[in-house]
Amino acid sequence: MPDAKPLHDGLFSWPDAPSTLMGSRCLDCGEHAFPSQKSCRACSGQNMTAADLGNEGVLWTWTIQSFMPKTPYHTDETPETFKPYGVGYIELACGLKVESRLRENQAEQLKIGMPMKLEIITVRKDDEGSDLLTFQFCASEEQG
Ligand SMILES: [Zn+2]
Repeated sequence: MPDAKPLHDGLFSWPDAPSTLMGSRCLDCGEHAFPSQKSCRACSGQNMTAADLGNEGVLWTWTIQSFMPKTPYHTDETPETFKPYGVGYIELACGLKVESRLRENQAEQLKIGMPMKLEIITVRKDDEGSDLLTFQFCASEEQG
């Protein structure tokens, strides 16, 4: 297994396979949050518990991003090698909408309501040569 680590801790389960998004759930009103929160944005309660948010959802809205990602999501790409990428909101089974990079990067590949699946990708290498990982969503039929 190559040396790799998440870019940010606590966003997804790793190296579990398949990885799932890690968030939180309010024990008072049931509201979910991602990333996990210490207090509930719906009822301001402090009674939060960790919640596995799963690895599937549907595309709620999307756009094609034609600017290079900002720090800390910058990649090894240069302005010359950069390719536009999709960004969207994925509506999870719990009803929460999560902003995510998308593997698909052309308008004809994306349709509101299409089923999407979580995948873990390498953003870039760090100074020690380890792969830095983050999550994105992709059309779930592509992965079968
Ligand atoms: Zn609450």
